[in-house]
Amino acid sequence: MAAAAAAAPPFAAGDSPPPTALLLPRTTTTTAGAAPAPRRSSASSRLHLLLTAALAVATSYLLLILPRTPLSAAPAPAAAARAQVKLEKPVVILISSDGFRFGYQHKAATPHIHRLIGNGTSAATGLVPIFPTLTFPNHYSIATGLYPSSHGIINNYFPDPISGDYFTMSSHEPKWWLGEPLWVTAADQGIQAATYFWPGSEVKKGSWDCPDKYCRHYNGSVPFEERVDAILGYFDLPSDEMPQFLTLYFEDPDHQGHQVGPDDPAITEAVVRIDEMIGRLIAGLEERGVFEDVNVILVGDHGMVGTCDKKLVFLDELAPWIKLEEDWVLSMTPLLAIRPPDDMSLPDVVAKMNEGLGSGKVENGEYLRMYLKEDLPSRLHYADSYRIPPIIGLPEEGYKVEMKRSDKNECGGAHGYDNAFFSMRTIFIAHGPRFEGGRVVPSFENVEIYNVIASILNLEPAPNNAPPSVEEPQMNSMRFCIQEHCQLELRGQNYFIAEFCDNVAVCQEEQVYCNQLQELPADYSVGNNSQN
Ligand SMILES: [Zn+2]
Ligand SMILES: [Zn+2]
Repeated sequence: MAAAAAAAPPFAAGDSPPPTALLLPRTTTTTAGAAPAPRRSSASSRLHLLLTAALAVATSYLLLILPRTPLSAAPAPAAAARAQVKLEKPVVILISSDGFRFGYQHKAATPHIHRLIGNGTSAATGLVPIFPTLTFPNHYSIATGLYPSSHGIINNYFPDPISGDYFTMSSHEPKWWLGEPLWVTAADQGIQAATYFWPGSEVKKGSWDCPDKYCRHYNGSVPFEERVDAILGYFDLPSDEMPQFLTLYFEDPDHQGHQVGPDDPAITEAVVRIDEMIGRLIAGLEERGVFEDVNVILVGDHGMVGTCDKKLVFLDELAPWIKLEEDWVLSMTPLLAIRPPDDMSLPDVVAKMNEGLGSGKVENGEYLRMYLKEDLPSRLHYADSYRIPPIIGLPEEGYKVEMKRSDKNECGGAHGYDNAFFSMRTIFIAHGPRFEGGRVVPSFENVEIYNVIASILNLEPAPNNAPPSVEEPQMNSMRFCIQEHCQLELRGQNYFIAEFCDNVAVCQEEQVYCNQLQELPADYSVGNNSQN
């Protein structure tokens, strides 16, 4: 049952997300220095909520430099973190292999990936993506340490319910991309970054203006070899021009996963090819004598699950209970997101849909469960943004939702499901002077990566959603308006609406009235979600 899956704990016992401290050994390199305290803006310091958050983040940084016992039995480290030899400054290459489901690394001989695992630190049962387990929300969570409700990229495509503008994967306007990604944190603190593709990297923000020399505009037809070689080329620059934070992105094996599902020889081929690219990178770094000095972090954004065998739910079969119009459905599958007209009762829509789905008269209805977004399991962190549509459906693993029956091919692969599903997990493999060799850590959510990289690069991290410690569980439920730390009072309800805060010069105590407020349509309601 979808309901049972949704209510289940997200992680098996002993596999809960550990604090970031587990990832970086206490041993620091001669160049790494002490982890800085997190930044606190003067605006945020006046907000009680954000004050608490900043303290929590500070706690996380104290933990970062304190020794911790791993939460699960891990093999003794083969080697402690090492000092850098050739490079003067710490360097991180963050690599994403899209849709690299956890376990793919065992599909074939992947000697280069296994070299990183053997001599580096990896997540024993994979990296946990954030919900929704989609490409853009996850890549931007990795880059910012924020959940989509905070960083604003709540789907790969979505309308802004207030402006009516539409976000797509080629939208580079800063208004969509909230929070502070690593390349901005770096640029703002005088550290050179270089991005060879990453969602959000082409957006001009802070001191980052996506300079030609260091910022590639997305072009999926660029051969992988060319991407790797361009990254290597940065290591030939004079020391003061060499970037310290670099991103590298591969579309595979996600591309193949959608076409054929996760259990096809095409996936094995794609995985081998990714391994070859890792080998090419390692060889190039070795040629330059810097491989052991560079922190290489290989991740994916999400996993993949096979979709086939008529695991379909058709929304038009709900017509006896409720007639759903196509234009209410903002996202269909696997993330079903619905915004009915303002004059409809949202609880009523959810109740009628669930009644139909549970009636036994809708094919596979028991594998889809509808929620008001605020009633979703809190571990999904998918409510606190006005951009998130008010009604969300969670299908069971591998099930798809369609408006009506069609004769199109149903077989392939998908992701976007509840991040509790093991099939949605991806990889975390880190190798370099700041990572212990042969270390295996329990699984953790990808929002932790931002702090790890900030620490390696001696950057003051922006406030983020990484759980600072087990003592601060409430941290995750806090809502951030990262850009300007403004709280907007709207219709008597408190909402964090970050883009409304762009032009606000002064954040007042507890409440800020943004000057764009009057631009809201008189009859606008933010998804009616405050009513329930
Ligand atoms: Zn992806
Ligand atoms: Zn995909």
